[in-house]
Amino acid sequence: MRLVIEGLYKTYPGGVQALDDVSLTIEPGMFGLLGPNGAGKSTLMRTVATLQRPDAGSIRLGDLDVLAQPDEVRKVLGYLPQEFGLYPNLSARVVLDHFTTLKGVTGRSERKELVDSLLVKTNLWESKDKAVGGFSGGMKQRLGIAIALAGDPKLLIVDEPTAGLDPTERHRFLNLLAELGRDIVVILSTHIVEDVRELCSSMAIIHRGRVVLEGDPSSVLESARGKVWRRKVSRAELDAYQRDHDVISVRLQAGEPLIHVWSEDTPGAGFHGVEPALEDVYFHEVGEAAARSV
Ligand code: ADP
Repeated sequence: MRLVIEGLYKTYPGGVQALDDVSLTIEPGMFGLLGPNGAGKSTLMRTVATLQRPDAGSIRLGDLDVLAQPDEVRKVLGYLPQEFGLYPNLSARVVLDHFTTLKGVTGRSERKELVDSLLVKTNLWESKDKAVGGFSGGMKQRLGIAIALAGDPKLLIVDEPTAGLDPTERHRFLNLLAELGRDIVVILSTHIVEDVRELCSSMAIIHRGRVVLEGDPSSVLESARGKVWRRKVSRAELDAYQRDHDVISVRLQAGEPLIHVWSEDTPGAGFHGVEPALEDVYFHEVGEAAARSV
């Protein structure tokens, strides 16, 4: 099942244009939606998840018209929002038992089988009888995924799931998503570039409601090859370099600024070409988009 988004627009009552002609085609696999805070990621995710309506545009999921058939879409949709509440005293098993009942799995043994398989899949089996109030951030997120999977979704949407997770939890969580992405469409919205580079088969960058780049991470990197240069500069020179070059990032290395510059050919003496990282492309695209919109 593929997801086809066409010409989506949304302006909030306060006048913020959160989606500005967004079109994306998303095939089964893991899709990374990258963008800075306020770019419109949540608005797009919530719209695809039928939780809010756009001003204009269309969304198709396989044969379904998402905007005209929200109830049908909800049957095949799993959505993990940025924040969700759980009754802290209930165990993971009881929580899942509740959600699988809501999803219409009424047979007791069938439900037990499903709940057990969800607990195993999300690596929560050992903690199944513990109160969820005592769960770590990563465990809560994995329980959120188990809940989202209760209805056997064809489309899974996860909004900024790795914020606040420690590296081990983050890896475990992303690996779980990647595994799911083998069979269904998984959309991962994030401002963490590495999450996308590591696991997504395709990606888009959005900025101020517009898609500024779309592709698969390896061809995106390929297209940036030969265009990223680095140089150590002194703090005193930094301003001048920022004025004269397309500086995409500044990092301190042993207290000295190390700059990355985007340039079609060598930007001058002292610069060395580097293998582009997805982060370089991201900063470049977001920087360009920001410059265009002022
Ligand atoms: P992201 O998820 O990328 O951080 P959002 O979709 O949450 O972006 O927000 C996009 C823009 O729309 C932001 O400028 C945000 O302040 C604004 N926005 C989001 N939700 C609302 C709302 N309910 N009412 C008014 N403005 C909103």
